[in-house]
Amino acid sequence: VIKVQDVLPNSLGAELRLEPGTELLSINGRKLEDFLDWEVLAADDQLILQARLPSGREVEYDIERPEGLPWGVVLEPPSVRRCANRCDFCFVDGNPEGARKTLSIRDDDYRLSFQFGHFATLTNLKPKDIRRIIEYRLSPLYVSVHATDPVIRRWLLRNPEAPDVLQQLRMFAQNGIRMHTQVVLVPGINDGDVLRRSLSDLYDLGDPILSVSVVPVGLTEYSKRQLVREPTQEECRAALAAVAECAERAVRGRGFAWAYGADELYLRAGEPLPPADWYGDFEQVENGVGAVRYLQQRITNGADGLAGLAGRRVGVLTGTSMAPLMPQVLEPLAQATGAAFEVIPVVNSFFGDSVTTAGLLPGKDCSLALASRTDLDLALLPAEALNDNRRFIDDMRAEAFEREVSVPVRFSYDFVDVLGDAQ
Ligand code: SF4
Repeated sequence: VIKVQDVLPNSLGAELRLEPGTELLSINGRKLEDFLDWEVLAADDQLILQARLPSGREVEYDIERPEGLPWGVVLEPPSVRRCANRCDFCFVDGNPEGARKTLSIRDDDYRLSFQFGHFATLTNLKPKDIRRIIEYRLSPLYVSVHATDPVIRRWLLRNPEAPDVLQQLRMFAQNGIRMHTQVVLVPGINDGDVLRRSLSDLYDLGDPILSVSVVPVGLTEYSKRQLVREPTQEECRAALAAVAECAERAVRGRGFAWAYGADELYLRAGEPLPPADWYGDFEQVENGVGAVRYLQQRITNGADGLAGLAGRRVGVLTGTSMAPLMPQVLEPLAQATGAAFEVIPVVNSFFGDSVTTAGLLPGKDCSLALASRTDLDLALLPAEALNDNRRFIDDMRAEAFEREVSVPVRFSYDFVDVLGDAQ
């Protein structure tokens, strides 16, 4: 059942007087099971919609949709597809007490893969899901491959039932679906020759595989460290060498790199990041691939017109992995604004100091880092550290955080997005 949560003004939904709580039952006789059905089927210009109003009355609307008039219907959030795997490196196992509740859900949902670019393993697809992906042309999908060898992949996913991913990808490719893929690198399991083979197998599937990224496995203090470990510097270097070999082949064959190491892989390897143009359209930036170069590009493009902050002291809170790179990232901003930026690395006591990414910073540690910093005019925090409900990973609310610290705070994606207002 899909239910209306809200109806926006000046919309078709408002004209039809759909109300919150209305159940959307079918369009043109096709039953609506979830938001995907709604998004695809409601896109028609002419349709018959059956709905059940909150009063229980069933209504049929014969609709000719005026051009340009949006539906304006906000649906209740969908229930998420649960994961069929039990990876040793699963983030859910690495959560301490007190983490945001949503972090305890092992989701593996092809629908969210399409809609939000979340990576899915496709191990829980039913025949009906496969038909929908093809019929609705859910493309691109984001697929966690990890290894193309089925035995190794099943071991990594701890799922003896996991289907052969190459067969799945080939079938989707033949049906016009394009896919971004990733390999989470687990040392001793899917690195070395296994990684080379995975990259080569994926490349050989042709153009429908749009890219592959290699991301080092990330663990917290609470992860199953007796079963899985993070790669060493040497192992990260070896993985980058395998990525580089594949990328060279791709540049020759397709004209772009196609295979990318995550920024974290370069940082752990102690190797310099490639230049911005290596990443093309930054299609896996949300996966930490080219994120630093992307940020630099946004700063360069947006720094003009940010004068008026001369003499201001701005603290920039970040995770310990980004901290060493921050001075060069902030340099053009300092020049453009005249402000003095101070990088404040925050050690993550919530997950343990092995978790170094800015997006996982807990409110408590950020608050401690700013305690007694009355010398700052402004503190910038990564906007990724908050969820849609403005809560940090440790469930602290942004408003509570702002009350706790003695310096004005802005949550920012790329600094230029908030510094304009701070003038
Ligand atoms: S695929 Fe693995 S890492 Fe992802 S949610 Fe499932 S068990 Fe966790």
